[in-house]
Amino acid sequence: MAVPVEKPRVLPPSASRERFRSLRTENFTESVIREMTRLAIQCDAVNLAQGFPDFPAPGVLKQAAHQAIDAEFNQYSITWGAKPFRDAIAAKYKRWYGIELDPEREITVCCGSTEGMIASLLAVTNPGEEVIVFEPYYENYGPDTELCSAARRIVPLRPPDWSFDPDELKRAFNSRTKAIIVTSPNNPTGKIFSREEFALIARLCHEFDALCITDEIYEHILYDGVEHIPILAIPGMRERGILVNSMSKTYSVTGWRVGWVLAAPDLTDSIRKVHDFLTVGAAHPLQMAGVTALALPESYYQGLAAEYQKRRDHILGVLEETGFRCFLPKGAYYVMADISGFGFDNDTDFALHLLERAGVAAVPGSSFFSNPADGRQLIRFCFCKKYETLELARQRLKRLA
Ligand code: GLN
Repeated sequence: MAVPVEKPRVLPPSASRERFRSLRTENFTESVIREMTRLAIQCDAVNLAQGFPDFPAPGVLKQAAHQAIDAEFNQYSITWGAKPFRDAIAAKYKRWYGIELDPEREITVCCGSTEGMIASLLAVTNPGEEVIVFEPYYENYGPDTELCSAARRIVPLRPPDWSFDPDELKRAFNSRTKAIIVTSPNNPTGKIFSREEFALIARLCHEFDALCITDEIYEHILYDGVEHIPILAIPGMRERGILVNSMSKTYSVTGWRVGWVLAAPDLTDSIRKVHDFLTVGAAHPLQMAGVTALALPESYYQGLAAEYQKRRDHILGVLEETGFRCFLPKGAYYVMADISGFGFDNDTDFALHLLERAGVAAVPGSSFFSNPADGRQLIRFCFCKKYETLELARQRLKRLA
C-alpha cells in the first residue's frame, strides 16, 4: 500500500512569495508527531504515534463539562483562569506536595501545556539568550525556542537509562543561560529525573542566575513505584521554577486544551501578559469541569498509573517479539525502541515502511534530536491506547517478519 500524498495547492512562483515568510518560521518544519497522525488516518493505520488516548474520557468529567455549559459558563473567564479552577489547582498542590500557592498571583491557566511552555519562554527570554534542553526532547521545544530567537544548548541523555553526564550539564551553563527545560516524566524516553539530578540542576540555576522550566504533564503516569518531584518542591526553586502542567494526559482529555503554569508572582506577571495577548484564555466550561477533575480521589490516580503500567508491559512484549530493542520507560506513555535489528539506514524510511507494510504509525526518533542523525536508529511508540488497539498493532507488526 502506497502512502497517499495530498496534492499541494498551486501557488505563484515561490520567489514572489518569499517576502511573506518570516525569518522566525524559517528554521523549523511542521510537527512530525502530528504529521504521523495525519498519515495514520490517510492509511487507516493503527496510530501509535501521537500521544493521545483512543478510549473515552472519564464520564464524570464529561458530565461536569455538560453541566458547566448548561450553567452558562460560556463567556470568557478571567484571562489567567477561572477563580474556582485556580483555587482547585492550589488545593491540588497543597494536598499532593504541601506546596502553598497564591491563586491570585502564582497561577496562570492557559490553553494546554503547549501554550504554557511557549508563553513562559516568551515571557522570560530575550533574543540571543540560551535555553538548555536535554536531548532527546519533545519536538515543540525546538520551535518554542526558535520563536523566542533563543539558542538551544543541548545536553544528551544516554540510553539505556537516559542519564546525563553532570560535567556536560555544568559546561552547558554560562552567562547567556536564561533557563533550562526539564520534562519529567520525560517524553520521549520515560526517564524520571531523580532528586539528586534536580538538586544539581537547582545548584547550577542558582550559580548562573537561571530558571528551570519543567513540563510535568505526565506527573501521574509513573511506574514501578517511582515518585514525582515537582520543581517547586526542590529546595531553593520556589523563585526559580516555572512549572507547566495540564489536564490532557492525567484525565485523558488532550483535546480540551486546559493547562496551567505555576511560578513566583513576578514571573507570573510576565507570563500572564504573554498569555493574555496570545489566547485570552482557556475554554471556560472546561476549566469548570477541571474543578471536578482535580478533586478526584486518590484511587483515580492509582488506577491510571496501574492501568498504564499494564499497557506498558504489554507493548514491551509485543515490540520485543517483533525485533525491537526497547528502553524501559519509568513514566509517561511512550517507548523508545532501537530499530537497528531491521537493517534500515534511517528512522524515517523505517517509519514509512512500518506504515506501508504493517499499517502501524510511530514517530521517527530523529524528530526528538537537533541533529537528525542521532535519532536515526530510534523510533517512538505510544501505548495510551485500548487493548484492542494494542492487540491489532501486535497482529499487524507480524507483517514485518
Ligand atoms: N505530547 C504528545 C506526543 O508527544 C502530542 C502532543 C501534541 O501533538 N500536541 O505525542
